[in-house]
Formats: sequence, structure tokens, C-alpha cells
Amino acid sequence: MSALLSQSKDELAAWMQVQGEPYFRAQQVLRWVYAKREFDWSRMTSLSLSLRDRLSRFWVLPSLTLLKIQESEDRQTLKFLWGLRDGKKVESVLILAPGRQTVCVSCQVGCPARCAFCASGREGLLRSLQAEEIIEQVLHTQKYLDSKGMRVSHVVFMGMGEPLENLDIVLRVVRQLSDPEGFGLSQRRITISTVGVLEGIERLCDEDLNVNLVFSLHAPNQHLRKKIIPYARRYPLDQLLEALRRYTTKTRREITYEYTLIHKINDQPAHALELVALLKGENCTVNLIPYNQVEGLRLERPKGSDIEYFRQILEEGGLRVTWRYTKGKDIAAACGQLALQPSSFVTVCK
Ligand code: SAH
Repeated sequence: MSALLSQSKDELAAWMQVQGEPYFRAQQVLRWVYAKREFDWSRMTSLSLSLRDRLSRFWVLPSLTLLKIQESEDRQTLKFLWGLRDGKKVESVLILAPGRQTVCVSCQVGCPARCAFCASGREGLLRSLQAEEIIEQVLHTQKYLDSKGMRVSHVVFMGMGEPLENLDIVLRVVRQLSDPEGFGLSQRRITISTVGVLEGIERLCDEDLNVNLVFSLHAPNQHLRKKIIPYARRYPLDQLLEALRRYTTKTRREITYEYTLIHKINDQPAHALELVALLKGENCTVNLIPYNQVEGLRLERPKGSDIEYFRQILEEGGLRVTWRYTKGKDIAAACGQLALQPSSFVTVCK
């Protein structure tokens, strides 16, 4: 059996044709799932019983089971734990802010990048997710929000995994989520974050997409970057920056550079000055993320005043800077805290 949401409208229509059904049946089925968040074949009442029966025998739906939802103390961050059909598990996060409901999706179980400061890659990559497993993270979250009269407004590929190492699937997900007849989320509201995979960025330049691209920079030079990000050994910083410039030129979308500040590692005033020199003249924003604690790592978050000073140097150097207010730390749902062994599920509501 294949998963229903791994199919595009045209692919499903081809199946319908073999079944002797008209093209619009494919649209109807996908509308039930994407627009009405209906995952139960028996309730898709606009389809004949016989078709519903054939559909249920041929297609897998749903592909995820909700195992747990955990809410942060301020109730603005929710972490969802999903069960996959092969028994593996994956997490996603819903971040609520005024007028903004962001779903942070995982695209792999584990992560091949193994950055020194991140929980997600500590056990390496177990497997990449399929399109339906990513799409359903969004659709089930939307179903949860439906009861509150809210709508998913943004999707960010910033959960577990490296999107450019699962790019065919990620592109399929982007196209299906942004299809106006499907979920209808504008590509401008979708963000892909990458540790820097050169071929992947180059491919994105040619894909005619409108998604936002975030680059996890974390160091102002190749030497330091190599020490904390193993992938940097494969893809030198100057080549990555050049590819990112091409992306900006091609799409006219500016790049965001993520910079996780780690005490004494990359947070010194000299690093800030070097970063100014590196990015001067680029059409970009630097997003500072104070390091979030990862169990078993002896790294520390810098003091507030040090972060402030770092930011001041960047701004005085002419860079646009944002500072990500850490959300969901108490439930290990903040950047870099999603892990294969979710250890900290405290409040559980199903
Ligand atoms: N693999 C992609 C997607 C992950 S996004 C990427 O590297 O971009 C998660 C973001 O959080 C990345 O910028 C990552 O570097 C950052 N991050 C990882 N661990 C962190 C930690 N402990 N504290 C703060 N940010 C972290």
C-alpha cells in the first residue's frame, strides 16, 4: 500500500482513471484531507461507498499517530510526538505568537549533520521522512488548531533533520502544501533551514520556488565553523556563501543567517567584528539564537550582556539583526533540542 499524501493531484487522478473515475474525484479526495482535515475514509460522504472501499484498501491514511502533546508553561509552544508506521518516532513544534501560528516540522528521524551543539544529530541519521509524514505533521497540527479557530500561518523546516539531504521529498512537500487547491499555504510563508549542502542550494536556485532560505552559519570563518559543524569540512564557507548569493539574485529573497551563540566558542567581540566583515554588503539578516541547553553537552549560553554587546557590534557594522527569543525551553522544544530520545515529556495531554 502507498500513502495517499505521497501523491500529487495528477498522480492520484491517474489512479482514479484506472478505476474508471473522473479527474475531479482526485480533487475531491485531496480536498477532504487538505481542506477538511478528514482522515477517516468512511466520513468522506461525497464519495460513493464503493470508491471509499477501494480507496481504503489501496491507500494508507493517516501515516502518523499522535502519541503526545506537551505544552510549555506559557502555553505558547506545543511539542507533538508522532508515531510512524515503522515504530519510529518524530517530533514537531507549534509556536504561537500574536497573529502567527508556526509549525516547525522534522524532515528526518535523527540528523546526518551531527553539529556539536545540537541534540538532533547525536545518534546520526535513522532515516529520512516521506512526504506524507511531513505533510501530516502540518495537517494534524491544523486539525488541532481548527478547534481553536486558528490557522497554520507558517511552516519552517527547522525541526529534526537536514532538509537539503531529503530535498526531493522536501520539494514535494512544499509544492503540495502551497497548492491553492490543497492546503494553500503561500511559499513565502515556508522556510527551509540548512546546515549548508552545496548541491542542494544550487538545486534550489533552479527550482522556481519562493521559499525563504535560512543558512545555519554559527561561525564567522571556515576554521571555527569546521570545528563545530562537521558538514563544513565537506562544503567550504566561501563556496556556500557564493551559492547563497546566487539564490538571492535568482529569487530576490534575502537569506537569513542563523548564529547560535555559545559561551567562549563563537560569542567574543572579535567574532562579531569578523562576522561584520564576512557579511558586509550582503542582502541578509543575522538571527542570533542563544545556545539552548542540550543534555550531556558541556556548552553554555552566554550572559545576556554579552549577547547584547555582540548584537550591538553587528548593528553598528551595518547588519540587520534579530534575536530569537527562546521559546519552549521548559519542554525541550527550542532550537536544537529535538532528540531521538525525548526525555522530558512532563505534561501530557492527549
Ligand atoms: N539541519 C537544518 C535544520 C535544523 S534548524 C539546519 O541546520 O539549519 C535548527 C536550528 O537550530 C539550526 O540553525 C541549528 O543550528 C540551531 N541549533 C541547533 N542546536 C541548537 C542549540 N542547542 N541551541 C540553539 N540553537 C541550536
